[in-house]
Amino acid sequence: MKISPQLVASIHYTLKNDEGEVLDSSEGQEPLDYLHGKQNIVIGLEKALEGKSIGDKLSVAVSPEDGYGEYDASLVQQLPKDMFTGVDEVEVGMEFHAQTQNGMQIIEVKAIDGDIVTIDGNHPMAGQTLHFDVEVTNVREATADELEHGHVHGPDCNH
Ligand code: ZN
Repeated sequence: MKISPQLVASIHYTLKNDEGEVLDSSEGQEPLDYLHGKQNIVIGLEKALEGKSIGDKLSVAVSPEDGYGEYDASLVQQLPKDMFTGVDEVEVGMEFHAQTQNGMQIIEVKAIDGDIVTIDGNHPMAGQTLHFDVEVTNVREATADELEHGHVHGPDCNH
């Protein structure tokens, strides 16, 4: 069975940046299951996996455009601390979900200077070329529920 839309693929992967640092990996864990064709994974990797079968190994370099986007300086903003209502103490590294013009995004607190909080709405891997080493470990039909929801239902799924 070859990976194509509406099938569930399982992959082991290691993600490195241009410097060769490992940013993420499935090593030592279960493979990642995803529903192909639904952009459950970055589009550049999804494209590269199209047509692959169990046992195939590939190395893919995904440009920011096909990955987590270019770094957008306009997503870095400075806000007064008192805008963060409902938070006891704003700290560097905190993440918030915020509704933006690009949909729901994760905003990270990058710096705090007195009453000014600098936030960054870029994905942590925005602007980076993503280097994936991938091995396909399984390909199967998706269930009707999975197709309806647009994602895989694994053991961690709680709905
Ligand atoms: Zn679901």
